[in-house]
Amino acid sequence: MPRTAATPEQIGEFFDQANHALEIVTGRNFHVGYWTGPEDDSSLEEATDRLTDQMIESIRVGQGDFRVLDIGCGLGRPALRLARATGALVTGISVSKEQIAHATAAAKAEGLADRVRFQYADAMSLPFDENSFDAVWFFESIMLMPDRGEALRQAARVLRPGGRIALTEPFERVPVPAHRRDAVDACMANFRTTSIVQLDRYPGLFREAGLRLVELRDITGNTITGSMTRYIDALLSNQPEVTDSVGQETAERMMRGFERLQNTPEVGYLHLVAVRVGDGQP
Ligand code: SAH
Repeated sequence: MPRTAATPEQIGEFFDQANHALEIVTGRNFHVGYWTGPEDDSSLEEATDRLTDQMIESIRVGQGDFRVLDIGCGLGRPALRLARATGALVTGISVSKEQIAHATAAAKAEGLADRVRFQYADAMSLPFDENSFDAVWFFESIMLMPDRGEALRQAARVLRPGGRIALTEPFERVPVPAHRRDAVDACMANFRTTSIVQLDRYPGLFREAGLRLVELRDITGNTITGSMTRYIDALLSNQPEVTDSVGQETAERMMRGFERLQNTPEVGYLHLVAVRVGDGQP
């Protein structure tokens, strides 16, 4: 990408100042919602929790003391939902100190502090040993990291052989004609993404990290329009509070980002699952 990537520190600073505004607009899940179809009138909260449930299902940890790493944990809601649903021992990491404080308080308040812990850490240098986790996920976070391949290698290193890795992120759905390149880049820049991936890049990215791709779902139609419509509504009806919290410029940039994504059909949304190969496991 021609753009200069934000460093993990800058991403952390961005969230530290924007967490409150984002929470007003998107709720405590900083990821899109999933709607089953046009007749599905679920709220944003229901739909975003539903996508979390699909992520939980896709890592197949079952019930018990399985160890799961949530890379880019946001305010901690997905990790807490995962622990409640499965009994997993979850570690959530983020480069936003404010998110770690918020998520830690939420774990305590929900009586899950013995199963879920949150810590400040950078996905580009994970402070965990090899084979520390039974599953790992990047839930709408990897596109903010400086090097997608390195992020996947780091995740694969701490994952046990046979363990699953799940991720969701926006992606380039169709070839982008030259005259639309700027529009697509502008759309992604609004979300501070470091890069956007073309569909056919994923098998290689996983393969180079020692991972085998097992599932790839294009869920664009279930996620983007429903989420952006609701984000825009929430932003419009809470404009003074959002502006108060992040300032006019960031509030406007958020609005532009949502509108652009709604009007950029080349950008879609993916849910991918891979398995770590090794120790004789295919
Ligand atoms: N998964 C959460 C939050 C998504 S927002 C949810 O679905 O609600 C993106 C998250 O990625 C933020 O928590 C941000 O701090 C984190 N992130 C971005 N770059 C990171 C990095 N280099 N290392 C760790 N976390 C990172």
